[in-house]
Amino acid sequence: MKILVTSALPYANGPIHLGHLAGCYLPADIYFKFQKYLMKRDVIHICGTDEHGVPITIEAEKRGITPRELVDFYHKEIKETFDELGIEFTHFSGTARKIHYELAQNFFKKIYEKGYIERREEEALYCENCNKFLPDRYVEGICPYCKSPGARGDQCEACGRWLEPSMLLEPKCKICSSPPIRKKTFHFYFLLPKLEEKLYNWLKEKNYWKPNVLNYALSWIKEGLKPRSITRDLKWGVPVPLEEAKEKVLYVWFDAPIGYISITKEWAEKIGKESLWKEYWMDEDTKLVHFIGKDNIVFHAIIWPAMLMANGDYILPYNIPANEYLNMEGAKMSTSRGMAIWAKDYIKAYPPDYLRFGLSLILPETKDSEFSYNEWLQNVNNHLADNFGNLIQRVITFIHKNYGGRIPERIPPGELENNLISSMNKTVQKYTELMENFKFKDALRCLLSLSSDVNRYIDFAKPWEEIKRDNKKAGSILGYATGIINVLRVLF
Ligand SMILES: [Zn+2]
Ligand SMILES: [Zn+2]
Repeated sequence: MKILVTSALPYANGPIHLGHLAGCYLPADIYFKFQKYLMKRDVIHICGTDEHGVPITIEAEKRGITPRELVDFYHKEIKETFDELGIEFTHFSGTARKIHYELAQNFFKKIYEKGYIERREEEALYCENCNKFLPDRYVEGICPYCKSPGARGDQCEACGRWLEPSMLLEPKCKICSSPPIRKKTFHFYFLLPKLEEKLYNWLKEKNYWKPNVLNYALSWIKEGLKPRSITRDLKWGVPVPLEEAKEKVLYVWFDAPIGYISITKEWAEKIGKESLWKEYWMDEDTKLVHFIGKDNIVFHAIIWPAMLMANGDYILPYNIPANEYLNMEGAKMSTSRGMAIWAKDYIKAYPPDYLRFGLSLILPETKDSEFSYNEWLQNVNNHLADNFGNLIQRVITFIHKNYGGRIPERIPPGELENNLISSMNKTVQKYTELMENFKFKDALRCLLSLSSDVNRYIDFAKPWEEIKRDNKKAGSILGYATGIINVLRVLF
């Protein structure tokens, strides 16, 4: 069995914040390392920056640089943050690469030829001042549902509803504020209704998924799927591979998930084993696990599997352990609203392991959780420093002082030792089970509880008194403690 772990492609228009880390990258890293180093499985972790789409072109225009310059800047910055945090990838790349264009175009062509894509004539908003169509966030106006101003062409942030640019009331061009006109164009639609039944049958078998993910996906199917436009009148993106549509690009949400495949392919080429990527993407024996935040559930549990089904060459996701949100003062962290705690600022001030530890204890695995600086500080002090840190400190100090820095030998176990060993065995078993089931928060608590057990064992066994009576027996207490610290060290 192979495991293919992916984490959501971070969007290359801003830095990584703590919400991103807790939502996806930290759990993905924990799971990947668990499978690789402890379970010794054949596992790879694939990720890279998502480099297309309107937010990137708008941000680049605002700064007076090209989209390429913008995505290269953030690609580098995001990669550096992950490196400093010790997030380990088998390969980290991006989607604005030749290898990705080719793969995404072939993917499109195949499902087009199989009849899952249809051309539709339509009218779209066009700015005569800027001489261009205004897809997605190029247009803003009043939300037709909640009447909030500043709703974007793709979504209203106030009520969360998905929108089409033509639905906005009093639309204005985001760049020059002119009111747009309606102009004839055509686009390509992915015919999701054709796959609805197949998707439903596939999803309903997924009773081992997190309930929040499965229920959300099923509720979408129950509402009925609609065809989705998968092309845009833009210059930046993967060109549509059809003669009639040379001026159009694939919608970013169509090309981005194909990045999981193209980045795996790029990795295989880089290490000189060109067809190795197929052993992951085309082998039913591979478990494909997508780590994402909850805002990506629809895409990963509905649209992406539908794309894969339509294409037919690749395996479908095995699991999608999406997390909920990590909030800050009750609100979701958001790059577009500039409301976030940036990871790079945090690790300038504190060691990365403190951040990883503090976040691991509050991962929003089944419901939203709240990040507070004081709680984080308390958790690091009480659990990491006072429990596990203190355990190591007292054991090492004692060994250095009384046994010349050599770990003393263990004598056969008594009742206290037997209890400790049984507690260790139970912990290892429970920990493994929790980790396999994406319950990382509980797994960490399990380890902390074993660490407390060892602290208590030392308190009861009192090696500092025992050493006055029996040097060998006192040494043995330290021997047992060290043995378990060594197990904990591996598991942490
Ligand atoms: Zn609204
Ligand atoms: Zn304009």
